[in-house]
Amino acid sequence: MAYRAIRDDALYVGSCPICDTEVLDTKDAVVCASHLSVSDGECRFRISKTLLGEEIPIEEFKKLLDEGKTSLLEGFHSPNRLTSFSATLILKEGGGLGFEFPKPAKKEEKMNALHLDKKWEEWKMNFQ
Ligand SMILES: [Zn+2]
Repeated sequence: MAYRAIRDDALYVGSCPICDTEVLDTKDAVVCASHLSVSDGECRFRISKTLLGEEIPIEEFKKLLDEGKTSLLEGFHSPNRLTSFSATLILKEGGGLGFEFPKPAKKEEKMNALHLDKKWEEWKMNFQ
């Protein structure tokens, strides 16, 4: 098991939702150790630590891997940077990342949230 060589408790974030290997904290991302040790990727689990303009604290990634979701995070920016919003990051089946939005007060915000979720699907590849 090659990944044992880089095992460091200080870097341990949680278990990979795809292959159950350790997920580690690296400079720019949290990455499955299987992904780190095999350059072409045995497992593709990797999440950038900066998403839509928001740097996500490592504690939130721990929570994400442990409980399947983060706390409500503030300060995300829409891709065009015109609006900012709050969202909870959720772990989808297969290790994908999704947004969960707080109940919007107004209909327009709800529409905006749906729109952003769709945009996110299109754009998330940029963050991987
Ligand atoms: Zn993995």
